Amino acid sequence: MKLKTKIHLFSTLLMLVILTLTNTGIYFVYKKLAFDTEYHQLNTQSQDLIASLSRMTGQTDPATVLRAYIPPQGVVRIVDPTGKVKVAVQSAEGIENYSPEIMPGDQYSIGQYLGTPVLTMQVPVIWTDGKVVELQMIQLLGDVKHTLGLLMLILLGVTLIAMIPIAASSIALGRIVIQPIDNLIKTMSQSRQTGKYEKIDVLAEGKDEMTQMGREFNDMMGQLESNYKKQEQFVSNASHELKTPLTVVESYARLLTRRGFDDRSVAEEAVGAILGESIRMKDMIEQMLHLARNQEQVAFNFVETDINAFVEKTLQPMRQAYTRNFIHEGNGSAVAMTDTDKLRQLLFILLDNARKYSEREIRTTISKTETAISIAVTDYGNGIPEEALPHLFDRFYRVHEDRNRKTGGTGLGLAIAKELADGLGAELKIESIVGMGTTFRIIIPKSQLLIDF
Ligand code: ADP
Repeated sequence: MKLKTKIHLFSTLLMLVILTLTNTGIYFVYKKLAFDTEYHQLNTQSQDLIASLSRMTGQTDPATVLRAYIPPQGVVRIVDPTGKVKVAVQSAEGIENYSPEIMPGDQYSIGQYLGTPVLTMQVPVIWTDGKVVELQMIQLLGDVKHTLGLLMLILLGVTLIAMIPIAASSIALGRIVIQPIDNLIKTMSQSRQTGKYEKIDVLAEGKDEMTQMGREFNDMMGQLESNYKKQEQFVSNASHELKTPLTVVESYARLLTRRGFDDRSVAEEAVGAILGESIRMKDMIEQMLHLARNQEQVAFNFVETDINAFVEKTLQPMRQAYTRNFIHEGNGSAVAMTDTDKLRQLLFILLDNARKYSEREIRTTISKTETAISIAVTDYGNGIPEEALPHLFDRFYRVHEDRNRKTGGTGLGLAIAKELADGLGAELKIESIVGMGTTFRIIIPKSQLLIDF
């Protein structure tokens, strides 16, 4: 069964049950009120009758007194303690055969006589002979029966008439709920067939859940599309980047096969080039693997770290490996929650770039602002042109392709640095002046700081 039909059936049935219950309640409450009203009238009448009976003398005919108080359709009886009817007067044919049942403690009872409800009430009275007898007043409730029948018809009519707008609104409700889901299903199957990231039409200003679902769906499609494009771009860039060194390796290998073994200098040049390109490819593949792993959400392990001491320690292996002056400036301790392995990796990328793209000393500086700790890596190299700054974190982006090829760059370092910084919850900023130098700044936000320094 379709969801639309289910919603329609369920809401219609629910409303039918609610209406029926309400109307049944109304019917029974009215019935009880009607009986109570009749009883109160009969009771008032019985009080008057008792007063008249008390004024009776031995010569008075009790039937005459009773007759003055007979209900329009009913009986008045005097019953002695043995249950024998002493006197009875009636205003309805055949009613004398009716034998009422009153439970002890009840004010009145309702029975049935030939399909008409009968109200019976009974009160003790002291009879002329001094004995206690029961005064029984019985009344046929023909009017009440008629009114109740009418009420039932009205309530049934109301239920039936009310079902028309209820059914119509449940159909409309089904449509309102199902329409966006239908659209979604259509768009998804269209996406599957065309292989495109199709979106659905949603109202920009709509706030209901269905519009929200549509918007979320479109956002998800947008994200999937952009991820897919990034992956495609990455694969195409990666193959392009690997093609160049492989072509170099291939051409030198061919050269070697042709004449390299006879000519030592050619052989040396070829082997040197093959080795250089192999190392570059290895580095590039390692970096690409790193990026791929990062996309799978590498787990970060945050620990309390003294950033100042940590940066100083990170510079040691750089000083060992390169004959370059790495200067560290920082005062006091600045403790933050960070992942030391990832921060070290990030610093190595920035320090290695500073080393590759400058000749002079390299400076690391720890400073604090009101809201953050900043680790700056400054070099005094060629700097980066302003137009290149927005692209620096793109994968495979290099400012001067040829120059950077000589430095062994792959264009992946800063993309990795950016992902590491994101994972660390830090911001990465660049300040660069062409011909003067470059500063990369890792900004650790206040939320990760433990102690002010
Ligand atoms: P690469 O492996 O080429 O160094 P990166 O992603 O690390 O790749 O850097 C991207 C480009 O940004 C580099 O090719 C270089 O042109 C430029 N760059 C990065 N750091 C510096 C720096 N400190 N000074 C000048 N240029 C830089």
